[in-house]
Amino acid sequence: MGEALPAEPLICSAKGCRAVARWALHWNNPRLHDFDRRKTWLACDEHRDRLSAFLSGRGFLRETAALPS
Ligand SMILES: [Zn+2]
Repeated sequence: MGEALPAEPLICSAKGCRAVARWALHWNNPRLHDFDRRKTWLACDEHRDRLSAFLSGRGFLRETAALPS
């Protein structure tokens, strides 16, 4: 059993944001997670840059995928 995305609605993971997510940021903290484990943050258009900058600044970001609209 993997970590499935919630069925719906997909809401941005940014604190306090209730916008519909348009992006899935897949990340991994090598100090906490197995190499092939993926955590997922969801992001709206507005917060995608902030969330991905946070993750990539720490070397955690592995993949960004567009969500089907
Ligand atoms: Zn947002």
